[in-house]
Amino acid sequence: MKKKIDLHFYGTGNAFSIRPNTSFGFETRYKNLKNVFIFEVPMSTTKQIIDEGYLFDNDSINSIVICISHLHEDHSGGLSTLLAWLKYAKKIPLEDKVTVICPNIDDMETYLDLTLHLPNKQNPVITDQYCCINSAIANVKVEIQAEDVVHCEGMNSIGFDVTVSDLTKYNQQFRFYYTGDCIEIPPHIVSQFNKRYIDILISEISEFPIDSRNVHCSYEFFKKNFSPEDIRDRIIFVHYNFDYKKVLNIN
Ligand SMILES: [Zn+2]
Ligand SMILES: [Zn+2]
Repeated sequence: MKKKIDLHFYGTGNAFSIRPNTSFGFETRYKNLKNVFIFEVPMSTTKQIIDEGYLFDNDSINSIVICISHLHEDHSGGLSTLLAWLKYAKKIPLEDKVTVICPNIDDMETYLDLTLHLPNKQNPVITDQYCCINSAIANVKVEIQAEDVVHCEGMNSIGFDVTVSDLTKYNQQFRFYYTGDCIEIPPHIVSQFNKRYIDILISEISEFPIDSRNVHCSYEFFKKNFSPEDIRDRIIFVHYNFDYKKVLNIN
């Protein structure tokens, strides 16, 4: 029996969608103390992230990890708003409690300097590789490994390999991979998912049959690389658009 976590989705839309853009999270907790994990902070979903549990209640926050796959607005546009709310409304010291994982530390520092402009040393911790939250009291360890993926020309993008371990039970782990935006899922991730070393894949998918712009993952890619059962049972698709025909003027 695998250790389970509850993933909560704040939005599943892409940049063309009028619905909230893709963002999701989970928490690990022990009594009233918790670690919160958030993947992507688009402006359109910032209200849901703040309102829908995890951050809003009065429980004590031990740590917050925010994973940003890349700096397109539909993935990062609400980050400064969220950090300002955490700092000024929730009184959470960002430098002690918050870690941001992103593709490029210099770009993130520039982004935060331009949009939030906190005094020195009050920024969250920023990393471009790895983060481990080892919550000894909760007996749960969460490891997040950032991996380079190919998205579009001139913009670095990363996927996230996440392992949640129950430290009280030998070898009991839950592992998922979140793609961010990418042309295709890296081959070693496809292979590990198909061998069931990865339990769940959370993947972006393009509404275009074959993505002619070559920046997103088409459904053909999934049909070619995964079984129909796994596509149905173990892949969570995000970053799609119900209104694409209208938006793109296609009949
Ligand atoms: Zn993008
Ligand atoms: Zn996107």
